[in-house]
Amino acid sequence: MTRYLSISDGDNRVDFETAVLAGSAPDGGLYVPERLPSVSLEQLTKWRQLTYSELAFEIISLFIDRACVSGADLERLIDTSVSDFFSPETVVHRPLNSHPEVTIQELFHGPTLSFKDIAMGFVVNLFDYFLQRRGERRTLLVATSGDTGPAAGYAVSGKQSLEAWLFYAAGFVTEEQERQMTTLITDNVHTLRVLGSENGSDDLDQLILQLVDDHELQQKLQFSSVNSVNWARVMMQTVHYFYAYLQVAKIIGEPINFAVPSGGFGNLCGGALAREMGLPVGHFIVANNRNSCLTELFESGLYREKRVLNCPSSAIDISSPSNFWRYLYFATGCETHKIKAWRAQLAVAGELQFDANTMAQYRRGFLSRSIDDRQTLETMARLYHDEGYLIDPHGAVALAALLDVQPHLIADSPSLCLATAHPSKFPKVVADALQLPVSECPPATAHVSLQQAKLLSQRVYECEYQNILTVVKKTLLKVHADGV
Ligand SMILES: *Cc1c(COP(=O)(O)O)cnc(C)c1O
Repeated sequence: MTRYLSISDGDNRVDFETAVLAGSAPDGGLYVPERLPSVSLEQLTKWRQLTYSELAFEIISLFIDRACVSGADLERLIDTSVSDFFSPETVVHRPLNSHPEVTIQELFHGPTLSFKDIAMGFVVNLFDYFLQRRGERRTLLVATSGDTGPAAGYAVSGKQSLEAWLFYAAGFVTEEQERQMTTLITDNVHTLRVLGSENGSDDLDQLILQLVDDHELQQKLQFSSVNSVNWARVMMQTVHYFYAYLQVAKIIGEPINFAVPSGGFGNLCGGALAREMGLPVGHFIVANNRNSCLTELFESGLYREKRVLNCPSSAIDISSPSNFWRYLYFATGCETHKIKAWRAQLAVAGELQFDANTMAQYRRGFLSRSIDDRQTLETMARLYHDEGYLIDPHGAVALAALLDVQPHLIADSPSLCLATAHPSKFPKVVADALQLPVSECPPATAHVSLQQAKLLSQRVYECEYQNILTVVKKTLLKVHADGV
């Protein structure tokens, strides 16, 4: 049985179920498996014809023992998690005419139209499955930069074993994303809009750490997390890399590149672990917007969290890439004491300069770029004019980064560009890019589910960022008491 440990504490090991239900480890670190499974080229060849769900079943089975989740139950948990997708294929691949070596991976066909649906539905189903079996309940605290909140809210709504609080910062999410959260018709999901926060979801992540530290709250509400600190999210996010590879590779074994719009590094961490498991990857391209914390880390080895800037690709307006640490653990030889020492140094100094050797280890097979707002909008406009394809601002950041690093990639190697949101979540950005009023933008600028949400009344708590801890604590306790 594979056991799980914190990346910064080698002493305590737990089973899969404990790691998933806890979210993060007692020392605050991220859970990782003692050992990653490996996948051979023969195995990849056998998987070529599988659907997304069938492939997810094979890959997740490498991580979860049958004694913990039976084969039939796992199949059901996966199937129900993709049953509400708008596309029967779950994930859609679309080659570009204007760049024949590039294929767009559309990860946004889930119920809330972003890549977060890919793993969230499954993780929430898994939580519910474990909790029902134990006869327990949990409260999920979810900070969002725009897409995690809607995905978690949708997945949790109506689940007896779960209650969720979605926190978002006013001005850091689009009206469409906001309505996806505030118009959910359910009793077990609550939304809190925070006014006056300067650093958006990074501030809210801090708030959640403080709430989780509160003994009284923790006792009463039994917190956990389905943010990508949760191992199960990252585990599920390995699957779309394998799937893309099997769809796009002409010969199993040839290297393929992946350009990924990145904020918290959760999506890319899934990719990096897929590579560790044996997936033939040429390069990963870390695509940042002006929030360039990851690019700085990959270019100069300096880890420094900066003030968050508002960009058109707002879901990656993040300056603390928490899942980078999980990747770093694997990239530097799985040594918990190293991670612990780096985290301690960072806590004291507020920044961290990695040494040349460490940097070489984590940079292997990675390129990175920070894309500014003008490049983002131009990339959207050019792709639309060249081939009538509307890409969302996050996909555009990835495509711009990919085209920029092209000379550094293995010659003729195919590339995947991950499109992580449906453009209809960002109609104002689309209008800006195409220089048209929203009403004259192409049909993909609107989505029927978002139009329906416009007709529903909103339900939301509101709170100033100053004094937030006290107010949120009171609100959580009151709503909990009313519900019991
Ligand atoms: C969350 C998100 C990302 C970034 O994913 P990370 O795992 O935080 O790097 C990119 N694009 C969209 C649309 C997202 O919602």
